[in-house]
Amino acid sequence: MQNNWQHNARNTLKGASRCNDFFQSDQFEDQHFPIKIPLEFANLIDKNNPDDPLLKQVINAQARLGNSEFSLSPLDDESNAPVEGLIHKYPNRVLLITSRVCAIHCQYCFRQNFDYSGHDAMSNWLAIEDYIRSHQSVNEVILSGGDPLSLSDEKLEKLIKNIENIKHVKLLRIHSRSVVVTPSRITDKLVKILSKTALKVVLVTHINHENEISEAFIKNIGNFDNVTLLNQSVLLAGVNDDSNTLERLSLKLFDVGILPYYLHMLDKVKGAEHFLVSDEYATQLHQNLKKNLSGYLVPKLVRDENLAAKTWV
Ligand code: SF4
Repeated sequence: MQNNWQHNARNTLKGASRCNDFFQSDQFEDQHFPIKIPLEFANLIDKNNPDDPLLKQVINAQARLGNSEFSLSPLDDESNAPVEGLIHKYPNRVLLITSRVCAIHCQYCFRQNFDYSGHDAMSNWLAIEDYIRSHQSVNEVILSGGDPLSLSDEKLEKLIKNIENIKHVKLLRIHSRSVVVTPSRITDKLVKILSKTALKVVLVTHINHENEISEAFIKNIGNFDNVTLLNQSVLLAGVNDDSNTLERLSLKLFDVGILPYYLHMLDKVKGAEHFLVSDEYATQLHQNLKKNLSGYLVPKLVRDENLAAKTWV
């Protein structure tokens, strides 16, 4: 199974020419944030629909609106990194940059310009461990990236064991888009590692549209035991910015055992201007969700600000 996901991770669509051919499109360009689309995700896209909501997340020949509110690094992660590879913004939790690699390149990604050089929690573990041990208020470690599940199962297991050894850390949160765009990443070994650790594990899937939820994903995500499954989405113009789409996503997530958790306003990163949804419209969409769904199916509408994730409504 593991070889299968590693093979699939290498078997991606890259480069404008190949992508334009594959999707019979002229919307791909070779730009600073290179195109990367795993075949498991590409095969879910309707090639006859130029407005396919999955296709729109990876197309990069966007209108350049030149909005001055958009910056290269909207969350300024770099200035909240007391140790290389570790970001500390909130008293009880730290975030580790475990990998610079992602299974897919999402064109709305707020880290698309992030300078990963030096930020490698894996090679800087000893300094990170010292930092966490000296901050007793930290009870949760969040694995981020890139995508932490681009690490091999062996590396992940070692990292999790190291975290387990810090007694005041009780919670492990893993944010991953790999699990849905390459469901073969949910190997038997990964399931075992996350289900057996002494830490309480929360796996936050990053799913924006119900069409991303494939049969393979449903089958594999159902294998986790003792793992809390939450989802966060980004509210993206042209992808999921209507009430019906968001309602269907919440219902589908719940159907496969995942609770909708956050609906993020777009982080204003240069290159993603065309995905922006206005505050007014986002509020209206969220009101509709509250009207039409039970409370536990309504994700919190939030915006990341420099030092805090703020609930929007
Ligand atoms: S998977 Fe996450 S970190 Fe990677 S490109 Fe997509 S949004 Fe960015």
